[in-house]
Amino acid sequence: MSGKIAVLPGDGIGPEVTDAAVRVLQKAGEVFGLDLEFEQFEFGGAAIDAYGEPYPEVTRRGVAAADAVLLGAIGGPKWDSVDRSIRPETGLLALRKDQQLFANLRPARVTPGLEDLSPLKPEIARGVDVLIVRELTGGIYFGQPRGMSEAEAWNTMRYSRPEVERVARVAFDAAAKRRGKLTSVEKANVLEVGEFWRRTVEEVARDWPQVKLEHQYVDAMTMHLITHPADFDVVVTSNIFGDILSDLASVLPGSLGLLPSASLGEGTPLFEPVHGSAPDIAGKGVANPTAAILSAAMLATYALERPEVGAAIEKAVTETLKTTRTPDLGGSASTASFTEAVISALAG
Ligand code: ATP
Repeated sequence: MSGKIAVLPGDGIGPEVTDAAVRVLQKAGEVFGLDLEFEQFEFGGAAIDAYGEPYPEVTRRGVAAADAVLLGAIGGPKWDSVDRSIRPETGLLALRKDQQLFANLRPARVTPGLEDLSPLKPEIARGVDVLIVRELTGGIYFGQPRGMSEAEAWNTMRYSRPEVERVARVAFDAAAKRRGKLTSVEKANVLEVGEFWRRTVEEVARDWPQVKLEHQYVDAMTMHLITHPADFDVVVTSNIFGDILSDLASVLPGSLGLLPSASLGEGTPLFEPVHGSAPDIAGKGVANPTAAILSAAMLATYALERPEVGAAIEKAVTETLKTTRTPDLGGSASTASFTEAVISALAG
């Protein structure tokens, strides 16, 4: 198996955590016999400094030619005053659009032994391992017509059959690679678009007999994610509901430094930590690389189609966190020493 990975370290702690993730992937490559090739490109603020724009042509070409993108983080106070059209975040929006990344995957897992970091009671937080699959390019954020006058304002929540089908397929595929359960979330009791979403997901379900499908209304789902979050495996939902539910789920593990993400679609898939560039701790060697390393695990599962490699990286991180923690988790390990510990755990 070979894989060409475009590495976009970005800004702030981005380069430190990306370096950690690359080193773990290289080790996983050795252990599992993967033929991985890494090429680094400027992106975000670093690219504004070097090329005057956040997503220069050379990076665009590198992304298009790769099998996966591993991104660190972008932005920081240095670029807050640059023109809106060339802000670091504009580069990320352009990359997602270019590659037509329509599904955003955000897992929230409470690491065994770290239950007391969660804002929930440990007995409720124990065993939480939920993956929110959010439709990313359609729905009410993009629907037409939209507008505002002195007297009123309006937006349109609209989904076509192919838009629902393709994100549902990503979610069923993820559920099949995990514990085989999928919860589809909408508001079918009030909205036609919700009823349409539910019916379309049910049609797609026929191709995935091994996955158990259930439906929830979004209002009920917010309660379930607080009262019994460990019951859920994969959750698929529309853009706006996914925006809200993934933020809700992201507080369950108790630290920003633990949360990875993947964006999948037509083109090159993108893997990145949920956290930002954390300028306050950049360059100090204390950033928690867990989110970036777990993003690399998702890359192995979803881009290289090697779920056993992803699971091995996840297991190495879980083992390491039992004894070794960076300052954000109350420990004193550096980024480098934590990464070394993960690499040793992976080597077995
Ligand atoms: P953005 O606006 O870029 O999304 P933000 O400034 O709102 O980001 P982050 O940069 O994600 O937020 O981080 C907020 C704070 O959380 C940081 O200032 C830092 O102290 C802490 N933090 C975030 N990620 C990590 C990490 N990987 N390791 C340690 N601490 C972190």
